[in-house]
Amino acid sequence: MIPYGRQSISDEDIQAVVDVLKSDFLTQGPVVENFEQALCEYTSVSHAVVTNSATSALHLACRALGLGEGDILWTTPITFVASANCALYCGATVDFVDIDPNTYNLSVDALKVKLDQAEKDGKLPKVLVPVHLCGLPCDMESIGRLAKQYGFSVIEDASHAVGGRYQDQPVGDCRYSDITVFSFHPVKIITTGEGGAALTNNHNLAERMALLRSHGITRDPAQMTHEPDGDWYYQQIDLGYNYRMTDMQAALGLSQMTRLDKFVKRRHKIAAQYDNMLRDLPLTPQKRQLDCYSAIHLYVIRLDSAELKKSHKQVFSELREAGIGVNLHYIPVHMQPWYQKFGFNKGDFPQAEKYYTEAISLPLFPDMSDDKLLIVVKELGNILQ
Ligand SMILES: *Cc1c(COP(=O)(O)O)cnc(C)c1O
Repeated sequence: MIPYGRQSISDEDIQAVVDVLKSDFLTQGPVVENFEQALCEYTSVSHAVVTNSATSALHLACRALGLGEGDILWTTPITFVASANCALYCGATVDFVDIDPNTYNLSVDALKVKLDQAEKDGKLPKVLVPVHLCGLPCDMESIGRLAKQYGFSVIEDASHAVGGRYQDQPVGDCRYSDITVFSFHPVKIITTGEGGAALTNNHNLAERMALLRSHGITRDPAQMTHEPDGDWYYQQIDLGYNYRMTDMQAALGLSQMTRLDKFVKRRHKIAAQYDNMLRDLPLTPQKRQLDCYSAIHLYVIRLDSAELKKSHKQVFSELREAGIGVNLHYIPVHMQPWYQKFGFNKGDFPQAEKYYTEAISLPLFPDMSDDKLLIVVKELGNILQ
């Protein structure tokens, strides 16, 4: 089976992890700080807080922004469940904004309409989580403008978009957002095994996220309620978690970063070949805007159902049977049974639901050979005949 995504691990990556294993610190040592520094330099952001997953980073981001009971978080239905679940962890509620049928990202037009209505109803969101689907940045300039106008915070879920660019600036610079979250899961652009990061230009948010990452415990006397009892003393000043990244993971991430631009370049090359070779088939690839340099985490096609004799489900299973490890990103979150109890119904977000009946993610990863790509194209051509 040709997988839809796969990590690329070099001998240097392995050596970097082995070096940490032989060092004094296995977790939260100097390499975590070096990795955070490297992320800051790469994205030109001022603070990076690395975590044991993007899910944890999203949770920390929501907590740092003060999301809680009675608050509302909006995101797109076409995302991984974690982009929405972070609100539920905080006791807040979730709502969704329908997608743009061409970019598959949260539609700014739908957002404007929904904000206008929410203002009248007194139900404006406290936080918006736009997701850069497949690595393609959302229209962040418009989102940033609306955030100022309506007074909500923005967490970019850039789990797919490490190494991408928007208006010729790196994704993660937080120019139009409060916090940007990265994922370093093995199928993503670079990996630490499991891991994530929350980036921000706001010193207070960074401090709060770092505090909550490690139990809400501080060793800084200035933050304590009274003088330290002695040199051993630490104080819990908030209810935090253990969301720390290890030095072993950070070493892998730091080593992977040296090849980040190469990975994304290779992803673009494969995508361009797909664009070219699939042109005459009854399908439409994701539309990538000119002011965006996608990280191309995924290559998603939509089947032109009207022109096909086979169902989406049938095409999908025939591809799997032919050894092509296709996937579907994503099942609309509001259609998950868990979310039914919040009152969502089929038909609430028609563009997202239509997308779900047509989308297929084709294999794409840096080490994918041209031979494998040709196999995918040939099988897809046969099946869509
Ligand atoms: C992968 C992913 C996450 C969660 O990442 P983890 O590091 O696995 O916790 C969140 N949001 C999106 C859009 C993702 O693709």
